[in-house]
Amino acid sequence: MDYARRQSAMQPQFEKLRLDALLVTHLPNVRYLCGFTGSAGVLSLSAGRPVFFTDGRYAAQAREEVAGARVVISKGSPLLAAAQFAQKSKLRSMGIEAAHMTVASRAALRRALAGQPRLRDVGPVVEELRMIKDAGEIALIREAVNLGARLLDTALQVIRPGVAEAEVAAELEYAARRAGAEAMSFETIVAAGPRSAMPHGVASAALIPRRGFVILDFGVILHGYCSDMTRTVHVGKISAGDRSMYNAVREAQQAAVDAVRAGVACGQVDRAARNALRRAGLARYFTHSTGHGVGLEIHEPPRLGRGQAERLRPGMVVTVEPGVYLPDRGGVRIEDMLLVTGGDCEVLTPAPKDLIEL
Ligand code: ZN
Ligand code: ZN
Repeated sequence: MDYARRQSAMQPQFEKLRLDALLVTHLPNVRYLCGFTGSAGVLSLSAGRPVFFTDGRYAAQAREEVAGARVVISKGSPLLAAAQFAQKSKLRSMGIEAAHMTVASRAALRRALAGQPRLRDVGPVVEELRMIKDAGEIALIREAVNLGARLLDTALQVIRPGVAEAEVAAELEYAARRAGAEAMSFETIVAAGPRSAMPHGVASAALIPRRGFVILDFGVILHGYCSDMTRTVHVGKISAGDRSMYNAVREAQQAAVDAVRAGVACGQVDRAARNALRRAGLARYFTHSTGHGVGLEIHEPPRLGRGQAERLRPGMVVTVEPGVYLPDRGGVRIEDMLLVTGGDCEVLTPAPKDLIEL
């Protein structure tokens, strides 16, 4: 990964935000900027050479992983070591990632600094950079997406009436680890029958009924990058009403995929899905946004939601996942990951989307 390029891409921010330094504490951002994958570390970025602070547990790992930054092993908290360094370097102003620091950490940092440098809350500046994936990241995301998609077959072999949702999730997750996944990218959703009406129906002890939808929403982490996909299958004979509900979501998902191209506002993609569901009379049952960025984190900018003005750009990787949820009856969601290209987009998720009846 080209950490030098990423670090220098942050440089214009210092002038723009009128800051001497930025303290990067959000671990995915730390990883993005210098390669460190551990659970305790702080990266101080300024006009000079970046400095990475961690504690003794990560001494060997930091020396092996961290690129483009001086590594400092602190006795106490890396955050306070970074504070001392900022004071010694006579910095006047230092930005912190406001969305990712606890109130307690911020107070401790303020106390340690005693007014010099001044602390300033900064928005998601590293996340903005992360929105555009470079070639190396896209290659890793492809690998994660392909591994994730292969797990669908495993799930389909297990799903039948009387099997617990949790058992389906367990088999899927076991297969994921066996195939090389580092972890799941979020809690696996297996929501069967009436539970499929819950957009976030995490796999439970509930049994798969003889008849009904089963929503499977899952993803893996491979080389640090997340995958995310949803398929909805139907167990037993499907009613005409449920079939038309499935087809409506299928069409809405396709309409949103067709809307994804560089230059289009994220809200426009959301509107494409909503308009399609409106024509089917189902728009009011679509209760979440259409998609989100994916990368080192399962949910990252941009958000493909109502009214979002952010424009899609080549290199963004987003999901498109409209759904319809009818209380007490069931729900349908279909989700793919897409890469925004110079032209329109490439659907990364290889799995078919026609209704699967088991
Ligand atoms: Zn998902
Ligand atoms: Zn998603």
